[in-house]
Amino acid sequence: MIDLIEQKLYSLSKSKFRSNFHLRKYMIEYINDKGLDKIKEHAYDFINQKIAPSNPKNDGKQTPTKNHPVFIAMHACGCCCRTCLEKWHHIPKGRELNKNEIEYIVNLLMKWIEIEYKKTSEIH
Ligand SMILES: [Zn+2]
Repeated sequence: MIDLIEQKLYSLSKSKFRSNFHLRKYMIEYINDKGLDKIKEHAYDFINQKIAPSNPKNDGKQTPTKNHPVFIAMHACGCCCRTCLEKWHHIPKGRELNKNEIEYIVNLLMKWIEIEYKKTSEIH
């Protein structure tokens, strides 16, 4: 799973659109405040709620581009809607995600957040 995640992060970093998403300072502060374990719980909640259903509500528009670090990670990792999930991760639309897929997405998002967190904390 780690290798797959690293490969995926590498491909995403080659996309001009995806690699343009970054954590803002207030998001870093939010992570400092909550801790990464709590952020991971939020990631499960958001994926379960916004991406996992067979037919997610407002699919394509369900993920904001601000406020929560997990939202930014979802855009950066191609996990913002079922169209992007199908394109980037070959997970077909129109059916509910299974446990392994949810696990994979959350681990990918958390890896992206960790890398971005380290980078951004050094700059500020
Ligand atoms: Zn999308």
